[in-house]
Amino acid sequence: MSGKIIEVRHLAKKFNRTVAVEDVSFDVYAGDVFGFLGPNGAGKSTTIRAMLSLITPDAGEILLFGLPLPTNRGAILSRIGCIVEKPDFYNYLSAEKNLEVFARISGSAVSKKKISETIEFVGLKGREKDKVGHYSHGMKQRLGIAQTLLHDPDLIILDEPNTGLDPQGSIDIRNLLLQLKNEKNKTILLSSHILTEIELIANRMVIIAKGKSIVQGNVAELLNEQDLIVSFEVDDPEKAIRVLMKHLPAEAIGKIENKILQLNIGYPLIPQVNQWLIENEVKVFGIDTKRKLEDYFLKLVNS
Ligand code: ADP
Repeated sequence: MSGKIIEVRHLAKKFNRTVAVEDVSFDVYAGDVFGFLGPNGAGKSTTIRAMLSLITPDAGEILLFGLPLPTNRGAILSRIGCIVEKPDFYNYLSAEKNLEVFARISGSAVSKKKISETIEFVGLKGREKDKVGHYSHGMKQRLGIAQTLLHDPDLIILDEPNTGLDPQGSIDIRNLLLQLKNEKNKTILLSSHILTEIELIANRMVIIAKGKSIVQGNVAELLNEQDLIVSFEVDDPEKAIRVLMKHLPAEAIGKIENKILQLNIGYPLIPQVNQWLIENEVKVFGIDTKRKLEDYFLKLVNS
């Protein structure tokens, strides 16, 4: 499989008078772990629900596997595995029985062997006969992923899969998703409101805010270390600017907030700037670095 797996173009959706999605566009390619990043309320779940034909958009286009929705709904959905809400299980049944029931309800022919392989793949072997009611949240999440894998989908869509997980649970899910990409060649879209979660796993991403897609691209390029906002906490920011104007281009000098001077410089220049300040008797109390996009995203979240 190659090429574009998801194409979303100018998607829009209102609920009564609430604009949930105004103009969202992005592309996901085969083999991507694609981060769908945005603050709470940005429109992520609404976009995902439109991709799964759970709601009808007001405007825009969605193509999955090169096929437009809604015409090819059945063919498309048979190739997608998803968790859009907390996975729901029968607590009084074992994990294995839950998967059997799920397979039967969904109408897909799933062999016992497939169920047992899937249980092993998600790391629940040995616990498959335990009642799901006794499972931890992380184990339930892994069982949810097992459920999405039963019909061998090409695309897996997960809406905020780390919500409520402890750090170890998040690491387990991350490893599982990487295994799905690397060993099973799946394409994965996962939404999150936490930049670092996306950064740790995704190769490409889009950021959405207030119903609009804002930036899209390669994660490593978007979060590049050469493009930093470096904050120097100093005793005399005006004097610091006078000193630094002799060495740095004007666009490298950012704003002053309280006693903090922001500079737009790359990582390697930090010790040099520090030295210029000290040599000119500007006292430096602290240095903090944020990548431009990280800084921008934190402002979006807090706005
Ligand atoms: P996210 O997943 O990024 O947190 P959502 O897509 O859930 O964002 O929500 C986007 C906006 O749309 C929010 O303001 C939310 O309150 C609103 N919204 C979502 N679903 C509905 C609905 N069924 N009815 C009314 N408003 C909704």
